[in-house]
Amino acid sequence: MQEIIKKKSLKIEPNLKNYDEMYKKFKWGEVKDEIEWFDTKLNAAYNAVDRHVKKHGNKIALYWEGENKTEKYTFSKLSELSNKFANVLTRLGIKKGDRVFIFLPRIPALYISFLGILKTGAIAGTMFAAFGPQGIKDRLQDSGAKVLITDSELKKRVYEIRNELPKLKHLIIVGETEKEEISYEEEMKKASPEFEIEKTSPKDYAFMLYTSGTTGKPKGVVHVHQSIIQEHITAKWVLDLHEDDIYWCTADPGWVTGVAYGILGPWSNTITSVVFEGRFDAEKWYSILEKYKISVWYTAPTAIRMLMAAGDELPKKYDLSNLRHICSVGEPLNPEAIRWGMKVFNLPIHDNWWQTETGGILIANYPSIPIKLGSMGKPLPGIKAVIVNNQGNELPEGKEGNLAIKSPWPSMMCEIWKNPKKYNSYFKKNWYITGDLAFKDKDDYFWFVGRADDIIKTAGERIGPFEVESALVDHPAIVEAGVIGKPDPMRGEIVKAFVVLKKDYKPSKELEEEIKEFVKKRLAGHAYPREISFVESLPKTRSGKVVRRLLKKLILGEELGDISTLANPECIEKIKQVLQKQ
Ligand code: ATP
Ligand code: MG
Repeated sequence: MQEIIKKKSLKIEPNLKNYDEMYKKFKWGEVKDEIEWFDTKLNAAYNAVDRHVKKHGNKIALYWEGENKTEKYTFSKLSELSNKFANVLTRLGIKKGDRVFIFLPRIPALYISFLGILKTGAIAGTMFAAFGPQGIKDRLQDSGAKVLITDSELKKRVYEIRNELPKLKHLIIVGETEKEEISYEEEMKKASPEFEIEKTSPKDYAFMLYTSGTTGKPKGVVHVHQSIIQEHITAKWVLDLHEDDIYWCTADPGWVTGVAYGILGPWSNTITSVVFEGRFDAEKWYSILEKYKISVWYTAPTAIRMLMAAGDELPKKYDLSNLRHICSVGEPLNPEAIRWGMKVFNLPIHDNWWQTETGGILIANYPSIPIKLGSMGKPLPGIKAVIVNNQGNELPEGKEGNLAIKSPWPSMMCEIWKNPKKYNSYFKKNWYITGDLAFKDKDDYFWFVGRADDIIKTAGERIGPFEVESALVDHPAIVEAGVIGKPDPMRGEIVKAFVVLKKDYKPSKELEEEIKEFVKKRLAGHAYPREISFVESLPKTRSGKVVRRLLKKLILGEELGDISTLANPECIEKIKQVLQKQ
């Protein structure tokens, strides 16, 4: 049975009032009027910041919450500082098309340098501050970056691989410098606040990001300046940003969400954003929602599950009355998480779907349409999403297959860096094939089934891990679950679950049986996990996604391959021990 949340009392008139009507009539050309083409050329940084200076120069663009201090920046200030940084790069000989990478924690210099790079016409690359030397080397080597901006702490990791990076000419350091390093602070002091922004054509390259590496080695996905058109309209329609909102995107700009919805989309809408430098901490997060009176919050299932694990009493200690809209992306959002949102915030969490490659949100739950729990929502106006079989032929509603998008759309990736073969492999007929499996229902809602590689084939049936994981986390003892197919001589594969228990629960044979019975009652008989392993934590990418391929390799006893994108490599040994005991 489908569980539906109809939203009666929205705290504000949504920007996209009538989804169905807009879906029918919308043409991308209409959005161009919301963006300035800047003398017929389009620069995403200009559109995000500089064009607002005249009317909204004194409006706060960024509230920054550091470990021990806070800062704030108006749109004018960001415009001026990013101009300065563009001058710093120009003095170093950076030109249009060069790659300039950023390896910084979430400090203001990250945001300023990102905008500055775009202003020169160079391609900005971002790297999450938790990367180790291998992750940094892979990305800098592959992209052939000429300049890296980092800080006096993180640079130590860069020096471990410095001599394997012959193309890297300059290191700009925030903080103390040595020898031939360039000081960010000194250069910024000297640089002029005036800069003639490069008039890039809409299809010129703007930024590149490596994917999360959930299914293999990360790919260098490149995006063009016009992607801001899509980021602008989705920030308005999906995140529902209004002029007076205070908005918090919890994603790091090392991932596409942190660029598209932590920088370009919201600022293009002249929105005040909050950036928190620190790591996840339930109390701190609630205190930020309270302190800054956050009204719109964009986060991820992994964070929501961690907040759930911290208990329902904690949020009651904070005044969260300004919060009016919550969105989530990155992994499937289990229905239990939405029910929890209703309970503690009195707000549903709006799931939406997209990928590094798509550059912007493509399928979403909009404020103005009912939420069907467990569904990713409906395609964005201007986007045609379908389900196709492996030959690229469209499948009817209710049939599971490859989620595919009619190509192109404004924020579609333009290249997998130096890998045209990989790029071409995404397309079949006129469809961009996402690599995810899904189905759509009679109302055009899309339902995520799993990544194509993660599908479990048991006794002739196909089972998506998401539905089993969602049933598992409905159980009161379970925080998180990762489900895979384990080879079995009789059934081909059996469903095998790795589960993390809440603090107050202990693994036992009885609990295992109880969980199996619990899932059996909720899903088709064959879909319950025949084997359960209780683990302390699941392997996750640094962007917080469960890496099922590693769980599979662990049970097969195979080589793990590249684990540079793993956030918690220490969990591997622990899972091995659990498996050995079983
Ligand atoms: P890699 O491509 O390197 O394996 P990745 O696919 O995790 O890594 P991203 O581009 O960060 O890299 O993630 C996009 C993927 O995340 C989607 O293809 C999908 O599998 C998953 N995803 C994102 N949002 C959702 C959602 N709302 N529901 C279900 N899955 C989602
Ligand atoms: Mg992917």
